[in-house]
Amino acid sequence: MDLYEYQGKELFKRFGIPVSEGRLATSPEEARAAAEELGGQVVVKAQVLTGGRGKAGGIKLADDPADAEDKAREVLGLDIRGHIVKKLWIERASDIANEYYLSITFDRGEKKALFMLTTEGGIDIEEVAERNPSAIARLHVDPLEGFQPWHARRLIYGAGIGDPGEQKQILALIGRLYDVFVSCDAMLCEINPLIVTPDGEVRALDSKFTVDDNAFYKHEDIGAMRDLDAYPAEERAAREKGVTYVKLDGDVGILGNGAGLSMSTVDVVAFVGGRPANFCDLGGGGDAEGVVDALEVITSDPHVKAIFFNIFGGITRCDEVARGILEALDRMTIDDPIVVRLDGTNAEEGRQLLTDAGAANLYVEPTMLDAAKRAVELAV
Ligand code: GDP
Ligand code: MN
Repeated sequence: MDLYEYQGKELFKRFGIPVSEGRLATSPEEARAAAEELGGQVVVKAQVLTGGRGKAGGIKLADDPADAEDKAREVLGLDIRGHIVKKLWIERASDIANEYYLSITFDRGEKKALFMLTTEGGIDIEEVAERNPSAIARLHVDPLEGFQPWHARRLIYGAGIGDPGEQKQILALIGRLYDVFVSCDAMLCEINPLIVTPDGEVRALDSKFTVDDNAFYKHEDIGAMRDLDAYPAEERAAREKGVTYVKLDGDVGILGNGAGLSMSTVDVVAFVGGRPANFCDLGGGGDAEGVVDALEVITSDPHVKAIFFNIFGGITRCDEVARGILEALDRMTIDDPIVVRLDGTNAEEGRQLLTDAGAANLYVEPTMLDAAKRAVELAV
């Protein structure tokens, strides 16, 4: 789960990483009140779960409370790549002498945490990586060894940070970033920009923070940070029903059993020229209850024009899944064409059951590729 900037900064603060003082606001009036409390110049920052807000007009400096109210009016409601701004973070403005970049993430290939530090901050790290890769100091931390101060020193020298005052502050900050990363079961903690003020003070001006949902049982407080409003209605409904579902923007609804097969189904639909409407994993079972829940979520997306059921029977037998599908169709009305591919254990019986049912909008195909082609053809 991705956190908002203000939530990430809250966690930074808990672990002693310096951030600017700020307040949350959801209306221009609240923004004005926040600016009054903070005093002086403030920054009005759109809180959306996407980066590049500055370029999109979502970050604005305001000179006084009245200006903050005006800027808040401009930023609230803004559409930043599909994310509508509903919340603002009003922060005491910083003077900036230098913008650096610091992050820690997982390097899955190495199975280790990876730090990156560069003095070329304030722009996308991908851009720096492409244009000037040697400007980025990278260092892995062995999980058994854990973080050691020499890691921070090597990063600082590697990035070419020479000022002793900056070195000292960033040294402490890197250690704290490792703490917050490990303690919160984060997958990414990125500070871009990490600024140096004209007085030589180092501070995190932005935060990009991703936590591992599977660790929420350890962190009730972080789990509670989830903003249900930020998810499509279909995903919210899926969460309530316990269905594994991710909304995509096409018109072929997809249902597979197992995450791997469901991913392949998304791929094969795209491969034959179609556009998947979602990812949905039925899981191990195939009982009517699970099928109904999944179909209800999938068909609640108005863009869905056809549904592709891709089942590989292993322990779950295809005839059971076929019965589940038929029972589900008894219980609910679906007008969209449904293409079913059954393969594996008891596939013959399963296909026979579906064919015998004789439903007009049910199409049975023996292979994944044929079924994908058929589903894409029917999605008109
Ligand atoms: P992003 O565009 O989503 O990455 O949002 P950031 O929080 O990183 O802000 C974008 C840019 O706005 C930063 O790189 C800074 O140049 C600028 N900015 C943000 N906060 C301040 C501030 O307090 N003072 C000044 N002068 N500039 C700021
Ligand atoms: Mn940023």
